[in-house]
Amino acid sequence: MTAALTGQAPTAQKTTAQQNSLHHVVIVGGGFAGLYAAKSLGKAPVRVTLIDKRNFHLFQPLLYQVATGGLSAGDISSPLRSVLSRQKNVKVLMGEVVDIDPDAQKVTLKRNEVINYDSLILATGSSHHYFGNDHWANIAPGMKTIEDALEVRRRIFLAFEAAEKETDPARRQALLTFLVVGAGPTGVELAGALAELAYETIKDDFTNIDPQETKIILLEGMDRVLPPYPTDLSAAAKVSLEKLGVEVRTQSLVTNIDGDTVSIKHDGEVADMQACTVLWAAGIKASPLGRTIAEKTGAETDRIGRVMVASDLSVPNYPNLYIGGDLAHFAHQDDDGKPLPGTAAVAMDMGSYLAKTIKAKLAKKPVSAFKYKSKGSMAVIGRNEAVADLNFMKLSGFPAWFIWIFVHIYFLIEFDNKLLVLLQWAWNYFTYQRGARLITGDDSIPALSEAVMNEMETEIVTVDGGKKEMVKA
Ligand SMILES: Cc1cc2nc3c(=O)[nH]c(=O)nc-3n(C[C@H](O)[C@H](O)[C@H](O)COP(=O)(O)OP(=O)(O)OC[C@H]3O[C@@H](n4cnc5c(N)ncnc54)[C@H](O)[C@@H]3O)c2cc1C
Repeated sequence: MTAALTGQAPTAQKTTAQQNSLHHVVIVGGGFAGLYAAKSLGKAPVRVTLIDKRNFHLFQPLLYQVATGGLSAGDISSPLRSVLSRQKNVKVLMGEVVDIDPDAQKVTLKRNEVINYDSLILATGSSHHYFGNDHWANIAPGMKTIEDALEVRRRIFLAFEAAEKETDPARRQALLTFLVVGAGPTGVELAGALAELAYETIKDDFTNIDPQETKIILLEGMDRVLPPYPTDLSAAAKVSLEKLGVEVRTQSLVTNIDGDTVSIKHDGEVADMQACTVLWAAGIKASPLGRTIAEKTGAETDRIGRVMVASDLSVPNYPNLYIGGDLAHFAHQDDDGKPLPGTAAVAMDMGSYLAKTIKAKLAKKPVSAFKYKSKGSMAVIGRNEAVADLNFMKLSGFPAWFIWIFVHIYFLIEFDNKLLVLLQWAWNYFTYQRGARLITGDDSIPALSEAVMNEMETEIVTVDGGKKEMVKA
């Protein structure tokens, strides 16, 4: 087609042709690994297409703040287009990748669009894992997406509202019982934030219930909270949680969830308890694209579906197909063959490394193996309460909390987010308030049957109207 027909100046046409001849890096997933890879390829002589099924990058470590009304969804998300808008060699596409053909070097999106690549970085992360009990997902939601956090927020605040209307003491206690399953960093953070919410933020907001009656139970299958942390930090975290009012139960496993009845196994005995809000923070499994890669390339996957990668994060026998972040099982670092943990810090390092590796390979320079330099790990429990293992030093209490705040603000992607979150946290800190306590979506509690919900609606009219007869709402 001539320049006159396309309406483009010859120089523009040449530029497009030149660009199209550049090595094409396709990145699937705009999470920590994918985004850091895209950012690090900014000045490289390649064209980059970043594909994500969402149009934003999500800062998952702060999801629990959204779930407990401390922050709004927008505070912890940044539009991918705006994050990458200054990088002229990066194109952002919103779409879900449903298939990959490593031999033909192409990915297929949901609506059958096909995109060819020269190098592919697959970083589609993970989701929660119910260990064969996927039917619990509706009753015990996990937290991985913004929708998950909003659903958890809906259930938490709806439980207090329903308790306010409930006249049966046993059912009211079940509504005021919150069970967090899994005492890793997410479970600990969630339980601590729930305790602050119930015992501080909303303590004077209700008429019929006393939020102090709220029970927050944190269950852990292992013998301590924060199992991967040093034992003294686990012990410090437990003390902080108990100080906040959280009941910690270790060596306890959920064996069944049926409506608001949760069966818990401890010391070989199974006992039932009533809890209308069960929150799942017990495990993760890799994105289903890990299985697709395994089927197409013969690569091995581990027990949770992560792809076993080579030392440069490539898939064995496919040197231009890389896996990053939570989807990668990288076991080349420790002599004991233990894989690196699925954390944001590991994912960011993998993303930056992959960008460097692709640049080095294009420049025909040698590539060294990926090596993660741990800067330590930390978990927040509540106001002035956190634990931090900084490798050279272990901290708990206020110093750890102070470092946690600044590390999390620092790594929030956009300047706007950083400022907003800092201001909101300062406000929350001094006022004990959590301003984003909205209940959105429908007003049912999945743990309660429809009959029970209807019965409660009947009672509301009785309570509100002060009438003696039972009137159906
Ligand atoms: C509640 C919670 C708290 C956490 N707290 C911490 C913490 O305090 N510190 C820490 O270091 N780590 C923490 N983590 C872990 C950390 O968030 C993950 O390790 C990290 O997000 C992994 O990065 P990733 O790039 O592999 O995947 P993700 O960040 O999950 O990104 C994956 C991206 O891929 C996209 N995607 C998925 N499938 C497709 C598809 N088929 N097509 C297109 N796009 C797709 C998703 O939309 C998403 O944007 C936490 C995680 C959670 C859930």
